[in-house]
Amino acid sequence: MSVGLYAHLPFCKSRCYYCAFYSQTANDNYTLYVKSLINEAEHEKDFLPTKTLNSVYLGGGTPSLLNVQQLATLFNGLKNIFSVADNAEITIEVNPDDVTEDYIKDLKMYTPINRISIGIQSFNDEELKIVNRRHNASTAKKALEIINKFYDNFSLDFIYGLPLQTCESWQDSINTALSFNPKHISAYSLSVEHGTYMEKMAEDKTVIIPDENFVVDCYNIINDMLDKHGFIHYEISNYCLKDFEAKHNTNYWNDGKYLGLGAGAHSFNGKIRRWNVASVDEYMRLAGIGNFYGKENIDKKTAYNEYIMLGLRTKKGINLDNIEKYFGEFYVINTKKYLSQIPYNHLIVNGLNYNLNDEGMLLADRYSVLFVI
Ligand code: SF4
Repeated sequence: MSVGLYAHLPFCKSRCYYCAFYSQTANDNYTLYVKSLINEAEHEKDFLPTKTLNSVYLGGGTPSLLNVQQLATLFNGLKNIFSVADNAEITIEVNPDDVTEDYIKDLKMYTPINRISIGIQSFNDEELKIVNRRHNASTAKKALEIINKFYDNFSLDFIYGLPLQTCESWQDSINTALSFNPKHISAYSLSVEHGTYMEKMAEDKTVIIPDENFVVDCYNIINDMLDKHGFIHYEISNYCLKDFEAKHNTNYWNDGKYLGLGAGAHSFNGKIRRWNVASVDEYMRLAGIGNFYGKENIDKKTAYNEYIMLGLRTKKGINLDNIEKYFGEFYVINTKKYLSQIPYNHLIVNGLNYNLNDEGMLLADRYSVLFVI
């Protein structure tokens, strides 16, 4: 059983135009926020079935807006409440603009962080500028040179289907990424979410959002390029060298248990899913003293639907033995019925295990709807 802890740091210096995550640009009381995270951890420590963590993930927002002392305080506080497994993965998301040699050196020296996830998105300045990223390609390259000196295990995040992007610029971005020898790359297709500035720009026609064919081309390009460099495409948007799967995210995809700390964070303990209030002020007022979350009990049907949805997005796939064991015969019959509706050239069958190939994974969400009970 794998158990993770997520801490949400919902602060950004500026808003990227496509972003729909909860974060705010006004608050900079990070010290008080860290205290609230520790208070919440203490209050919620029994939510998980064990106090030994296999992964810790600091995400955002922009966790790298916190200085190393604030991060060290957070880890010291958590250490008094939880223990970490020997091979635990401890990740921080960083923005290229925040990376300096001193910062990364001190992270390595004063915190247990052993993996860095850096939000590159593109190595093309026009593409970065049109979505209002605060870094440029040169800053990103310098940041990677620094990270490479201190950390072996780091991951680069990209977005494809960006306005102004071409197949050539996308290939250039991937080639530049590979020149830094990362162990892991995530690549997400741009999604124009409701309420974002990008949505307004698309409506006003101040940007042209690339069409679906271009997005499919980009997906095929990255699959081919990374495959040639020995990367395993282990989840629809994630690629890694052998043994460098992101443990924390893999736990989510395996329907594993996790406690989410911070404003807007989600938690799941196998039976209950909870989500914290998405307001930093409310969160800091109530953390450690009261209930500030919504919650939902996860019944068998919901758990099965999630198992299928998550499984079809991964190389691990879905397994009929597991479905029988966890859900029962009725669910096996349902699964077989709808597996037979997936075109054979999208499906890889290995005994009782079924997973989608690269082409099929692109349609994973559409296929998983078929199985819904
Ligand atoms: S840095 Fe990340 S969380 Fe902040 S606005 Fe940009 S995409 Fe959103």
